[in-house]
Amino acid sequence: MAATTTIVMNMESPLSPSHQDGPQDRDGTGVRPPVVDLHLHTTASDGQLTPTELIELVAKTSLRTVAITDHDSTEGVVEAQAAAVAYPDLVLIPGIELGTEDGDSEAHLLGHFVDIETPGLQAYLAELREGRVKAARGTVERLHELGIDIDWERVLEIANGAVGRPHIARAMAEAGYVKNPQDAFQRYLGSSGSARVKRPKPTPADGVRFLHSMGMSATLAHPQTVKGLPRVLGFLVDEGLDGVEVFAPKYGTNDRERRLEVAVRNGLIPVGGSDYHAWGAANEIVPGDPNTVGPPPESVDALRSAADRWKASRTPTDVATARGGSGTG
Ligand SMILES: [Zn+2]
Repeated sequence: MAATTTIVMNMESPLSPSHQDGPQDRDGTGVRPPVVDLHLHTTASDGQLTPTELIELVAKTSLRTVAITDHDSTEGVVEAQAAAVAYPDLVLIPGIELGTEDGDSEAHLLGHFVDIETPGLQAYLAELREGRVKAARGTVERLHELGIDIDWERVLEIANGAVGRPHIARAMAEAGYVKNPQDAFQRYLGSSGSARVKRPKPTPADGVRFLHSMGMSATLAHPQTVKGLPRVLGFLVDEGLDGVEVFAPKYGTNDRERRLEVAVRNGLIPVGGSDYHAWGAANEIVPGDPNTVGPPPESVDALRSAADRWKASRTPTDVATARGGSGTG
């Protein structure tokens, strides 16, 4: 894949230790404030800023290309696009984040360049979100069995939109059952937590097929959080995965070089972003943080080409095929 090779060559400079030339070069690898952030959340899922507020925030930073990628939802896209009109220098890419699962391994996929009116898209996303609400309700019920009484209405109020575990965690902290939301995840809501209720999710391979069938590029988010990564990445590459997050400052920058090598070796487009939710945690990475390194603009071009190819290859049977394999794991 020629496009990927070009990007990788161009990318050597931002990662090279020879570019230690700015006050922002804190860890000896970053060089300049990021201009691209391909992973941002809004109130359309579990982010705390409305799409308008998010666009207003990023417009004040060094960022020139941003993507909103809400969980299982494109409901923030229209508002974000309207808000972005006020900032002609800012390119907004509509996207989505899809939770997938294979056994005990979870993998988050990002789809970029979504056309929200693609037939079949909204119905499937609505189905996923319904599963999410059911699981959240089930979690609150299980907490109740454990002697933790959280008001479901209060959880919905905190969520102010798409409900999920972070909102339950905050309700628990608010009611004094845990020190803070992180504590709630550690003890009750995390993957091995006692109140965890799983929701139906597609497998990673189904997820990639689905995104492609909807005319989006498909990339793997924060690979360092995926259990059994070599195996998962192996079959996702076979499935046609387009890229992988290399620039994921929220998850640590130490092994950026290693992640880039993985991308290069597999012919994947190196992407990434802050995964910003505006949760207000002290250590939260804010979009455009000059101490972080973002993907190069070449990655955006390659991603756009990939999405264009998938759009061009869409057939009417794609939707049925992609959804047919979606299990209830
Ligand atoms: Zn995310």
